Amino acid sequence: MDYFDLVPKDQRWQNWILFSQSMKYGLRVRDRYADSVCVECGKVNELSALNSGIDCDVIIKSKLDYLLTDDGIICASRRLIAVLHENSVVGFTDIPLPGDKSFSVLVPNLLVDIHESELNLEFIEPKCSTCDRYREVIGTPYLLAMDLPKNPLALFYSKIWMENERNRVTWFRCTGLVANILKQEKIRGVEFEEC
Ligand SMILES: [Zn+2]
Repeated sequence: MDYFDLVPKDQRWQNWILFSQSMKYGLRVRDRYADSVCVECGKVNELSALNSGIDCDVIIKSKLDYLLTDDGIICASRRLIAVLHENSVVGFTDIPLPGDKSFSVLVPNLLVDIHESELNLEFIEPKCSTCDRYREVIGTPYLLAMDLPKNPLALFYSKIWMENERNRVTWFRCTGLVANILKQEKIRGVEFEEC
């Protein structure tokens, strides 16, 4: 079976979910996520933050169906969510934005084990002793190192995510079957990169 990375295309506008940006304060973590910030390294625990809710003034500027925000979160249009549900695709949690009826946050929930995690991944020290996260994780795991899902109608990723100095970067992989569905539906904003 063929597998693809769903690579988000470059964005014309900046979008943030967990951070806010203003002339007065610059870029900072939204107040409601203060409890999700690591006291040592300052990174936000993205998953617990997203599960605690999203501010009503978060609005996505985009004409695409699939996009990556500047804080590393994948958002999907209502149309893309509908296409995934209609085709019984699994592997994601859809968190609708309370203030923007056009988009949801798309969180991977099918995270597979990988063997030999050092394979094709670079872990940049230091590792935070409080939250256990590296300063950076670069690269995506080789397919052969992943325990691939048995259901071909799945979005998935590995338990280890890419990470930059500020945040994790959400990523999705899928089978050729799912990629073909998205291509047929002309889902905008995604490039299919064979892995
Ligand atoms: Zn930390």
